[in-house]
Amino acid sequence: MSEPPIINAMSVDVEDYFQVSAFEGHIDRASWDRIPCRVEANTGRILDLLDRHDVRATFFTLGWIAERFPSLVRRIVASGHELASHGYDHTRVTQQSPEQFRADVVRTKSILEDVAGERVRGFRAASFSVTRSTLWALDVLAETGHEYSSSIYPVRHDLYGIPTAPRFPFRVAGNGIVEIPVTTVRRAGRNLPCGGGGYFRLLPYAYSAWGYRSVNRDERRPGVFYCHPWEFDPEQPRVPGIAAKTRVRHYLNLRAMSRRLDRLLGEFRWGRMDAAFLDAPAPHGAYPERVVKANGADWEIAPAGRS
Ligand SMILES: [Zn+2]
Repeated sequence: MSEPPIINAMSVDVEDYFQVSAFEGHIDRASWDRIPCRVEANTGRILDLLDRHDVRATFFTLGWIAERFPSLVRRIVASGHELASHGYDHTRVTQQSPEQFRADVVRTKSILEDVAGERVRGFRAASFSVTRSTLWALDVLAETGHEYSSSIYPVRHDLYGIPTAPRFPFRVAGNGIVEIPVTTVRRAGRNLPCGGGGYFRLLPYAYSAWGYRSVNRDERRPGVFYCHPWEFDPEQPRVPGIAAKTRVRHYLNLRAMSRRLDRLLGEFRWGRMDAAFLDAPAPHGAYPERVVKANGADWEIAPAGRS
């Protein structure tokens, strides 16, 4: 019997350029309503690109955006894409108590479902902020009706990541939620980030293509890619007074993004997160169980069946 084809998951984190974690210290959330938004036009560029390739994707959308741009949310859903949650206002889980996080995800799910008229199954934490100190978030997500999360980046990074976390989806024992990590490539004992975002923009295209080829062909696994609407907007206003490292990460190669994504969409097979994983036939829709438990101040992800 032949294996089912490998469909990678394409995803977009729908937020505006001034809402990213890197600008948190420079742009107060209270001022957001006074800044002209560019997210609707920029998301439109991505929607057009996906249409041209007949690809359906998952849009992890801020509740704040859905409240102000319901027509954008309706366009996403009407085009056959999956709507999922990116939290209300991009507050990282690491800055929230479990109670605050619960209120945030309940509020956002309800806003998105009201606007879209569809059930929301997925969640992605702002800046992959489900880390060793916030793995409790997976319990909260399951209790509040989310079926999957894509919030752990299994890499070493200065701002996020659990380098020892599983590289492929796993089901949390007890609560049943599925965590679907963005793509990494294993080389020389390390996980190399290869899931899109800044790495896709800052490094040559060939690096990402190599990564997805290696995961699809050598490991026989679907990958997960993510990008942001502001990455397709070279004309976005420049935020003054930010550090050089942040400036490079946010602004470099914005002009190359449309062309690069166009190429990636053409060279690999893509679909929605739910279609690529949750509703996919085995082997891609079958996951090992993992136990997520507190270990002192931190949390850990352990193989199931070991106490
Ligand atoms: Zn984000």
